[in-house]
Amino acid sequence: MLIPTLTAVVAMMAMAMPGGSPAGQTPGTDVWWYPEQPRQGILLRLVVTPDTARTSGTAEAVVEGSLAGQALHFEPLADGRYQAVAAVPVSARETIPFPLTITYAEGEPEHHFVRIPVARAAFPMERLRVARQFVEEPDSALRVRIEAEREATREVHRRSLGTPRLWQGDFARPAVGPITSAFGTERVFNGDVQSRHWGVDLDGEQGDPVVAANRGVVALVGDFYYSGNVVYVDHGEGLVTAYLHMSEVLVARGDTVETGQPVGKIGATGRVTGPHLHWLTRFGRVSVDPMSVLELDLSMFGAPAHPDTTVAP
Ligand SMILES: [Zn+2]
Repeated sequence: MLIPTLTAVVAMMAMAMPGGSPAGQTPGTDVWWYPEQPRQGILLRLVVTPDTARTSGTAEAVVEGSLAGQALHFEPLADGRYQAVAAVPVSARETIPFPLTITYAEGEPEHHFVRIPVARAAFPMERLRVARQFVEEPDSALRVRIEAEREATREVHRRSLGTPRLWQGDFARPAVGPITSAFGTERVFNGDVQSRHWGVDLDGEQGDPVVAANRGVVALVGDFYYSGNVVYVDHGEGLVTAYLHMSEVLVARGDTVETGQPVGKIGATGRVTGPHLHWLTRFGRVSVDPMSVLELDLSMFGAPAHPDTTVAP
C-alpha cells in the first residue's frame, strides 16, 4: 500500500488515541506514544507494532519515520515492537505530523501519516539583570568568538545524529538543587534584550557536584563567553545534554561517562546572576525541557546496540 487509505489512518489514530491499544491484540499496524498528548518542548516515546500478519517467521520489518524534521531511530524490542525517542519543538501547533514507513520482507512498504496531538505549554516570563557587557552589542572580535562557540555546539548536535545509542536506562538529574528557572521561560535582560530560556536552571552552591544525566561520550569541553565552562555529552541517536556555567570541569573530550558520574562542579561562569547549573537537552536540532527526559520510562530500551562503540573526539 503506497498511499494509506483514510480508513487506515483513522483506524491507526483511533488505536493510538488515549490509552493506545496493547500490542498484539489488534490486527494491522499499531502506533502508540507517551505522553498521550505531549506538550510543546518535551521528549516523547513512540512505539510501533508492525502488522504481525506480515512479520511471520523470521522476517523482520524496517521501521522508519521522522518527527519535526528529525529522523528517528527505531529499535526492535524482543516482542516484535519498535521503539524510538522523539522531540516536540516549542513551536509545534495543535498537532505534529509523524510520517512513518514500514518495510516488510515481502510486498509493498506501508506508508502512514499520523498526527500526534500537542498540548500548549505555559511558558513563564522573567526579568533579569546581568553585567552590562552581556547585553551590549558584542564587538567584531567577540562576535567571531561567540559564533565559533555556537558552531562548535551545532557540530556536536550534528555528529550525535550519526552516533549509535550510548544511553542506557533512565536519565538522572545532574544536580540535586530545585529548579530556579524553568525551560522555555521568556526572558527580558536589563529591561530590553529578550530571549527564550532553552534549558533548565538547577540551584546549587559553588563547587556542588554536577553529574552526567546518562551514559555518553564527552563531545565538547570549553570556556564559552555566555555559557562559561561547559561540557556537552553525546548520548547517541541525536540526544545530547550539556552542563553550563560550571566552576570546574572534571572530564575531557572523548571520555566515556556513565550515568551519575561527576563531570564538573556548579559555578557562576559566563552570563549568570549567581551560581547554578544550566542543564540543556537537545534531540537533533530541537531543544526540549530537560526535565521531560526524567519523566520518560525508558526501561524498555535494552542494552545499546553497539555498547563497545567509541566515538572519535
Ligand atoms: Zn539557564
